[in-house]
Amino acid sequence: MKPNVLTVAGSDSGGGAGIQADLKTMLALGVHGMSVVTAVTAQNSLGVQGAWELPAEAVRAQYRSVVDDIGVQAVKTGMLASAELVETVAELLAGTDAPAVVDPVGISKHGDSLLADSALDAVRKKLLPVATVATPNLDEVAQLTGVRVETEEQLREAAAAVLAYGPRWVLIKGGHLSGDAVDLLSDGTEEHWLRAPRYDNRHTHGTGCTLASAIAAHLAMGRSVPEAVTAAKEYVTGAIAGGFALGGGIGPVDHGW
Ligand code: PLP
Repeated sequence: MKPNVLTVAGSDSGGGAGIQADLKTMLALGVHGMSVVTAVTAQNSLGVQGAWELPAEAVRAQYRSVVDDIGVQAVKTGMLASAELVETVAELLAGTDAPAVVDPVGISKHGDSLLADSALDAVRKKLLPVATVATPNLDEVAQLTGVRVETEEQLREAAAAVLAYGPRWVLIKGGHLSGDAVDLLSDGTEEHWLRAPRYDNRHTHGTGCTLASAIAAHLAMGRSVPEAVTAAKEYVTGAIAGGFALGGGIGPVDHGW
């Protein structure tokens, strides 16, 4: 039987990020993908033209429908839009044994806000503590902890600052630093440095969603956190290498390579 993996995230009408990226990643990795939609965005390669969040009741009902009947072996969270939805999802995750990969989505590559500033405290105090793995990029680290990373060595400080909020593991994505794409996975005692060559490709829309979904898929297949993150990084590196032009702006990574 295929493992069941659930994404709790926003819809990207352009199909490159969000729920659409998550489900394509899950299909590519051979697990059964399911979705709880938290928000709908009107979005394309140029940016986010509009965003509407769903009522907390609708998020809770979708989650219950999936979990109570089908069951989940891993959950991934993405765009949660508001403090109320962050708190709702954190509460739901607290009630499950399935590992949770939390991508603390803040701002898109185009600079569009996908999370209200008033939700940051709920992310720190409610969502991060229930995460098996949190996957912030450097902008999200700065937003959540105030730590600004400019060198590889500072990735350690960033990891410690996020781990202080209680996730079991943190993967700090250092992709915005110059040189190789370097990420640091840490649980406070074990450290894993993950390196991949940098591809000179501007079509990287959906990278973060794809990585977090791939980690969840590999966890659902029974891999340990370091194994799942290593396999997911390989998958996303291939997806970035295959990123392609779409519309007039930033195209998506290639999920189906
Ligand atoms: N849209 C939605 C619904 C998302 O969840 C995300 C990222 O998590 C994005 C857009 C941003 O994608 P990117 O920053 O890769 O362009």
